[in-house]
Amino acid sequence: ATTRRPLMAGNWKMNLNHLEAIALVQKLAFSLNADQLTAVETVVLPPYVDLRSVQTLVDGDKLLIGYGAQDLSPHPAGAYTGEISGAMLAKLGCQYVVVGHSERRAYHHEDDALVNAKVVAALENGLTPILCVGEGLDVREQLRHVPHCCDQLDGALKGLTAEQVTKVVVAYEPVWAIGTGKTATPEDAQEVCGAVRLRLAETYDQGTADQVRVLYGGSVKSSNVAAIMAQPDVDGALVGGASLDADEFSKICRFP
Ligand code: PEP
Repeated sequence: ATTRRPLMAGNWKMNLNHLEAIALVQKLAFSLNADQLTAVETVVLPPYVDLRSVQTLVDGDKLLIGYGAQDLSPHPAGAYTGEISGAMLAKLGCQYVVVGHSERRAYHHEDDALVNAKVVAALENGLTPILCVGEGLDVREQLRHVPHCCDQLDGALKGLTAEQVTKVVVAYEPVWAIGTGKTATPEDAQEVCGAVRLRLAETYDQGTADQVRVLYGGSVKSSNVAAIMAQPDVDGALVGGASLDADEFSKICRFP
């Protein structure tokens, strides 16, 4: 039993131009009614260049759909060519930003210190970081996935107060399940999501841990979402591939 509002966040990755983004958000808005969007918070995470178009649609039609970005700079402003600041995202009405996705850790060499700086930058700009943690197949085979994810969590939240931590969303995304079609079992998802909450309770307090939403991500589809969401410590999903299809993503958002 949880009083935490479920959150379904669609990570579009480097897919969909701004016209395709508008079409997808429009289809989503047609497929989900106000009651459904109130029961389950529905968020899209498009590429930066689509954000203005999504903002215009969401604001203009007062859609109950949230949006955010997939990354941000740890710096507030300045000579960082190609980077996007938290302030810029907040100015475009973003509520969320993904931080520490495994693709950024792998292809852009993001370490825990950088992820920590990005979490801080997000919070300083009033954005909710969706902090990703997760183990690769080698770590899973050595059965070190729980300490691995807890270490990533500690690193990313270093120096934060309990109050700040309540504003963070954590996403457990086992790397071996991302984009592979291999979903973790509901029990696998619960094991790590539960361990994340326990770690938050140990580091901060139970009240703080109970407020933090912990998502599962990795090949979530309409056919497996209900069983994953039935787990006590899973409060939502970070969805990649399946979020590019409006029918499929809206089915995921209507899981109950
Ligand atoms: C992701 O990249 O965050 C993700 C969960 O991808 P997919 O759903 O495609 O596995």
